[in-house]
Amino acid sequence: MRNGVVIIGAGHGGVQAAASLREEGYEGPVRLIGEESDLPYHKPPLSKTFIKDKEAKPQILRAEAFYSGANIDLLLGETVTALDPAAHRLTLASGASLPFDEVILATGSRPRALPVDCGPLAGMLSLRSIADARAIRDLAASVEDVVILGGGFIGLEIAATLAAGGRHVTVIEAQDRLLARVLPAAISGHVGARLAASGVRLLTGTTVSSIEGENGHVSALTTSAGERIPARMVIVGIGVVPNVELASAAGIKIANGIRVDARMRSSAPDIFAIGDVASFRHWFTGQDVRLESVQNATDQARLAARTIVGHDEAYSAVPWFWSDIGDMKLQMAGLTSGSDHQVLSGDPQDNRFSIFHYRDGRLLGIESVNRPADHMLGRKMMGLGFSPDPALAAAGTDALKAALADWQAKQTVASTGS
Ligand code: NAP
Repeated sequence: MRNGVVIIGAGHGGVQAAASLREEGYEGPVRLIGEESDLPYHKPPLSKTFIKDKEAKPQILRAEAFYSGANIDLLLGETVTALDPAAHRLTLASGASLPFDEVILATGSRPRALPVDCGPLAGMLSLRSIADARAIRDLAASVEDVVILGGGFIGLEIAATLAAGGRHVTVIEAQDRLLARVLPAAISGHVGARLAASGVRLLTGTTVSSIEGENGHVSALTTSAGERIPARMVIVGIGVVPNVELASAAGIKIANGIRVDARMRSSAPDIFAIGDVASFRHWFTGQDVRLESVQNATDQARLAARTIVGHDEAYSAVPWFWSDIGDMKLQMAGLTSGSDHQVLSGDPQDNRFSIFHYRDGRLLGIESVNRPADHMLGRKMMGLGFSPDPALAAAGTDALKAALADWQAKQTVASTGS
């Protein structure tokens, strides 16, 4: 009798893995274990719609009936404390031990802790879970001044949302520009200018030296530049760290995350890893990466499920991300590190433009602000392996569409001979 697949982590990746196993015809037991007690939910709305509307409900990924209907055993509020790959058994916090044939580790990541010791203070918050989002929403209703540490996606999405709700928001970013880890300077500058125009105060090249509390609640902080800023609410969004502890204790290879091959297999037989926690050699860039995105988690989940049912395919999804910051829809396709030539299409003055990144004449990625057609086209082009001439990228979306259609027609002729 089969012991089945146990999926550890019930975020976007874990839920998709369970669904994909059934879609792929897997007939053994499927157990999905999550630490939170809420039904698994969409994370992207937490920093946007959820915190601005006190009536907003979590958007669940799948209705409860889906899990029972697909015969997926959903164990919520449960923690896996140990994994024994050799014995094919794992241990739960309750002390119970479960056998498995395969495990998919979808343990995700957690907010990086602020390297400033202030002890436990109410009002010091971060955002990862629905419980965190509820805490931010509740406190935001009663405070005027908010300081956000970190000018990445999390920090800026929250900054735009709270500023639109009338709060005085200051963002403190260690790097000399916003979004430095993920986007080029031109987009950082554009986003910064629009956020500043909407009333958000931005301090770059700055960190926090100390944090003060009053009666157990945060009251002010002092920046590395020596400025004291009063704040009853401080949100820490300074990056995430992968949750590798379970795998590490089980002797599984860790290298900036759980190291997996192109089929999502870890160094231990029958143990897979997907999503934020998985690090791998990227098929498109040849670099070792760990991608923190919903797209990556769900595509890797689909592939892990296909590997388990016997397919032999390497990961080949085009990476893409998005972020809504105030009136800017930022969309990114591909991976742009190592880019040696950039082409601008559109006009930043209109708050609608894209930047095309090339290396050695090959398209690496496209970053768009309010130009969803460029983004969709970029995903399609990179998925098909078509790299348009940089002059075409500058010519605009219609010229690119025509060039792609022309290229596809030629491919068809080449493959069919007619
Ligand atoms: P992030 O993108 O890594 O940005 C954090 C920023 O904070 C970095 O620029 C970092 O600089 C800076 N920082 C580090 N220590 C600091 C300090 N002591 N004081 C001030 N700034 C400091 O991470 P995040 O914004 O926290 O987001 C967490 C994860 O969620 C990311 O993977 C993000 O992509 C994901 N997310 C995605 C979306 C989306 O796709 N729409 C939305 C929200 C979140 P260093 O690089 O020097 O450390």
